[in-house]
Amino acid sequence: MKIAGGCYCGAVRYEITSEAQASLQCHCRECQYISGGNPAALMIFPLEGFQLTSGEMKQFRRSDLERPVTRHFCENCGTGVASETPSRPGSIVIKVGTLDDPSIFAPAVAIFTCDKQDFHHIPEDITAFDKRPG
Ligand SMILES: [Zn+2]
Ligand SMILES: [Zn+2]
Repeated sequence: MKIAGGCYCGAVRYEITSEAQASLQCHCRECQYISGGNPAALMIFPLEGFQLTSGEMKQFRRSDLERPVTRHFCENCGTGVASETPSRPGSIVIKVGTLDDPSIFAPAVAIFTCDKQDFHHIPEDITAFDKRPG
């Protein structure tokens, strides 16, 4: 399986050559900033199967949090492309909107519904977690 994607301006391009470990939507307050307000649509892949094919990503990590996620984004257009979280070392969390074909995404779970807004939609056939599963 080969999946390609990139940022809005096209400077950052990536390729993924491994199967997704998870597909989810995250309702957390932090994701609302990055997504524009809605839950973030996310697919998680093994980090080793991810590689940049052009451009470079800039990293941001909040210094006021104990276990901050590392956010990777395009310095040119600002698109949030991916993140790495200390709770899933060795994996990379891809923003579905950056996939060339976002239609491959089908969320299996919704997480951090503790921060869910009334205008967020959770499909009836998926499992919702107040925080994260397990
Ligand atoms: Zn860009
Ligand atoms: Zn989130």
